[in-house]
Amino acid sequence: MSRTLLRHPNIRTGSTGSSGGHAPVTTALLVEDGVVVALGDEALAAGRSGGADAVVDLPGEAVLPGLHDAHIHTEWRSRDLSSVDLREARSLEEALSLVASHTATLGPDEWLHSGRWNHNRWTVPVQPDRRSLDRVAPDRVAALSSVDGHTVWANSLALRLAGITRETPDPVGGEIVRDADGEPTGILRESAQDLLDVVPQAKAPLRPLLERNHDELLALGLTSITDIDGEECRDAYVAMHADGRLRLRVAKCVRGDDLEVAVADGRRSGQGDGVLSVGPVKFFSDGALGSHTAHMTEPFLGHEGCGIAAMPYPVLLQRIRRSLAHGFDIATHAIGDEANRLVLDAFATVRAEGHTGILRVEHAQHLLAADVPRFRELDVVASMQPSHCTADLELADEIIGYRPLHSYAWRTLLDAGARLAFGSDAPVEDPNPFHALHAAVTRQRADGLPPGGWRPHERITLDEALHAHTVGAHEAVGRHDVGRLVPGQLADLVAVDRDPWSVDPADIRDTVVLQTVVGGETVFTR
Ligand SMILES: [Zn+2]
Repeated sequence: MSRTLLRHPNIRTGSTGSSGGHAPVTTALLVEDGVVVALGDEALAAGRSGGADAVVDLPGEAVLPGLHDAHIHTEWRSRDLSSVDLREARSLEEALSLVASHTATLGPDEWLHSGRWNHNRWTVPVQPDRRSLDRVAPDRVAALSSVDGHTVWANSLALRLAGITRETPDPVGGEIVRDADGEPTGILRESAQDLLDVVPQAKAPLRPLLERNHDELLALGLTSITDIDGEECRDAYVAMHADGRLRLRVAKCVRGDDLEVAVADGRRSGQGDGVLSVGPVKFFSDGALGSHTAHMTEPFLGHEGCGIAAMPYPVLLQRIRRSLAHGFDIATHAIGDEANRLVLDAFATVRAEGHTGILRVEHAQHLLAADVPRFRELDVVASMQPSHCTADLELADEIIGYRPLHSYAWRTLLDAGARLAFGSDAPVEDPNPFHALHAAVTRQRADGLPPGGWRPHERITLDEALHAHTVGAHEAVGRHDVGRLVPGQLADLVAVDRDPWSVDPADIRDTVVLQTVVGGETVFTR
């Protein structure tokens, strides 16, 4: 047994102090074997009477519960760390010149991958084609992902090696974009991206990249994550955990495509230990806004289509049922209002059949008014990413405009009794949780725009945002032993350079983490 006394004048417990709960602020935590056992004067008294093996004074202006990113792609982000970053490019030409200089650093057989290009921010906002990519990468496979991960921009060589021609039909839930002559342009949307999987790819080993990403997340104040990526990522976390290298608490999702592997493996949601556990199964029901593949009830402004249903509704329902029957919780991606309606229909069906597993909608971005109360009625978690709102707001105005929808509707959902879990969807957005807290309370971008916030009636308080980024995210993977700094909870916390409750809300975004503690042990110090 080891006991540590942690002291700081401004420890935010995450408790509201209401209905006999603990005080919202305390000055000390007594931690025994990773778990908080006493607060405040009681903890200090135990320390004075020799009841602590060590006394630690935490730095900075405030201490708060460690944050949990409820939706993050760590394999994708880790691999991005070794690729070109096109997010800031403001034109096709600028993107191509970045690709050209990155290509010069690659070995002869290495693919051009990731990239995170965002044509919506280019001076001429049209999706690019293979011919432009061929100019800078004629003789290596190039398959560059859009910033939302829902579109690939491939070169001619990639299409040829994958056997994609004018005769290739669109796969279910995807589109091979074609030019006026019927030739593939190199743009592959949604499931059409998977057509490239047949092309052999020499990938760098994942684990060193994943470890670098792991350490970066701890330094940002994250102490738990729910990872959305695939089996290779899971294997790397299992190996890291076996070596004692895993300090983040990881709830590892199962991708819908890997469900049978996980079933055969005997996995169930919640299995594991306090560090690495099995998360929900992740399904897609539609695409994304930036790729015009979100599934809407009405067409996008200036476009004919209503987006893409990633899988036919009966298939989605059948796969959700099968997952629940095997003990898995469910996380289903839904961006558009039609996608959200259909996912909630599927959830209503399985609830009526008596299934009690955790049900989550990932993103829940654009909701019909009639669907808002269904989150509480069906006990469905809205797993949302505040930074999506501030990154998308111009695009949402441009391609959705004003419809009777609730968009990024945190206030409306909370008022309707829904449970929120916050995350980043990194690398789509920055994984910094203070960016999310800032976006949630201001609905403004880093530049302070728009004045007063975008649809400011949907702003929420810092306490509400922190709750969604801690307790809400933990509960969304069935954990009730962590999230508050009160007796009986794990001592996961961060010390930061400012008091987010007393600074100008605009400054929450720049909060710097000075020390991160997981289970009472310091895992990062600046
Ligand atoms: Zn995602």
